[in-house]
Amino acid sequence: MEFRDGPDEATFRIEVRDFIARELPPGLRQPDEAVLGVGVGEDMRDQEWLRKLATRGWVAPAWPKEYGGAGMSVAQQFVYNEEMARARAPRPNFLAIGLIGPTIIVHGSDEQKKEYLPGIMSGEVYWCQGFSEPGSGSDLASLQSRAVQDGDDYVINGQKIWTSGAHRADKIMVLARTDNDVPKHKGISCFVVDMRAPGISVQPLTNMAEMHSFNEVFFDNVRVPRKDMIGEINRGWYVATTTLDFERSGIISAISLEELLKEIAEATRSLRHDGSAGLTAGGRLELADRFVETRIAIMFSYRIASMQSKGLIPNMEASIMKLYSSELAQRIALTASRLGGLYGQLGPDSAYAPMNGRIERMYRILPGSTLAGGTSEIQRNIIAQRGLGMPRE
Ligand SMILES: Cc1cc2nc3c(=O)[nH]c(=O)nc-3n(C[C@H](O)[C@H](O)[C@H](O)COP(=O)(O)OP(=O)(O)OC[C@H]3O[C@@H](n4cnc5c(N)ncnc54)[C@H](O)[C@@H]3O)c2cc1C
Repeated sequence: MEFRDGPDEATFRIEVRDFIARELPPGLRQPDEAVLGVGVGEDMRDQEWLRKLATRGWVAPAWPKEYGGAGMSVAQQFVYNEEMARARAPRPNFLAIGLIGPTIIVHGSDEQKKEYLPGIMSGEVYWCQGFSEPGSGSDLASLQSRAVQDGDDYVINGQKIWTSGAHRADKIMVLARTDNDVPKHKGISCFVVDMRAPGISVQPLTNMAEMHSFNEVFFDNVRVPRKDMIGEINRGWYVATTTLDFERSGIISAISLEELLKEIAEATRSLRHDGSAGLTAGGRLELADRFVETRIAIMFSYRIASMQSKGLIPNMEASIMKLYSSELAQRIALTASRLGGLYGQLGPDSAYAPMNGRIERMYRILPGSTLAGGTSEIQRNIIAQRGLGMPRE
């Protein structure tokens, strides 16, 4: 593994850095929940930042140029993601850019590409992902929502849960069962549904940080035209697990955690506990441990990026990164609370709260980090089976 940039990456890094220094509006920062992967954050659709990114094709770095993306190589994406995370620059429409769009690019018809991709690029159309159901999260293929053909339409009935951003989404990508008589992975289809379609209702779910980020979405005889099925009938499982040639190293999360830790160190350094100023010896050691761990997360990212650059597909390596960085995020929040002492428990309404109460909030939003995107237990199963060759049961 070569840790230094090659000449092309070095030039590109300077280009990205200059762009950020020149164009990122002062004070505009990715919100904590988005950085930590446990929420969608505020609505970034109106930001001039999106427009500036669009002038370079940098809204969707990995998308092919023909669809308005930058068509960056995996190595360039790595550099781009690293610099953006370092600057904590917002990533507008991240779910649609990272997941929905690529699915449509790979499996959508020409008409679907024409209809959906421009709205994702411009940020005008906001998407959510309706996959999980009550009782079907880790075992997603057991989902029970049904889509039954009726003339030129499908009629969807069922319930989705934990749907991030559904309360402000214009479109939802939904998985629903279209055949009950085949093995569970083989009877699912993927649809695009308009969130204003009659029969859809959205109920807010508030997490324990009192944040409304995800929702329940109910489908009561919702009619979806046949043309809005993505990919072939009963192939939805395979459609939903598609990724483009995306940089999957997790470098965004690793760098974001390191930057967050720097903020925490700065904010807690001057706090007074029991009359003594600044960090205690124990606190300093704890902080040092977290810094070492963020470097380990960064090394894991390099490993994945290096595999991808050689054309290898990371598998359990991506699970290691997800497991390690989400659990590290929780340890960082715990360390921050300890270092903050009683102040660390104060919310944004207190003038004494370090980091404007973000420590306390982070501590409460982070339990979701080891659930969202596949739980720690599922990642451990993947590592055990695919990495260590252990048996399934
Ligand atoms: C912040 C957040 C945002 C989310 N956003 C979305 C979204 O936008 N769209 C969407 O569709 N979903 C979303 N989800 C849902 C997420 O994908 C699921 O929560 C996740 O897949 C876990 O499923 P579950 O909640 O049904 O838990 P379950 O699968 O019921 O798991 C319960 C517990 O059992 C354990 N477990 C389950 N199976 C196994 C096994 N085989 N071996 C060992 N242990 C096991 C789990 O690890 C967990 O501890 C979000 C979740 C969170 C927390």
